[in-house]
Amino acid sequence: MTVVYTRAGTSRPIVKGHGLKYDGAPLDEAGRWIHPTRKHGKGHPPTPGRGGCYCGALSEVLPDRASRRAWHDQHKLQVIADMREDEEARGV
Ligand SMILES: [Zn+2]
Repeated sequence: MTVVYTRAGTSRPIVKGHGLKYDGAPLDEAGRWIHPTRKHGKGHPPTPGRGGCYCGALSEVLPDRASRRAWHDQHKLQVIADMREDEEARGV
């Protein structure tokens, strides 16, 4: 049975091997960090780019960090669903 841990105080799942690269920084199509041409942070517009997972999954181009985090949460839920399906198929 797959045990899913969640980040303290949230319902966001933690799945081993599936971390959001650079905490949601924008990536290009090869998974490289897109460094904005000017300083980013508070008061600066978000940089569009792909979200990346350490398993190699890449999202579509998303407008900001919050949407890349949301993508990664969905990605992890899919990974969990796939693991459970696999376990059921094997009768674990
Ligand atoms: Zn992943």
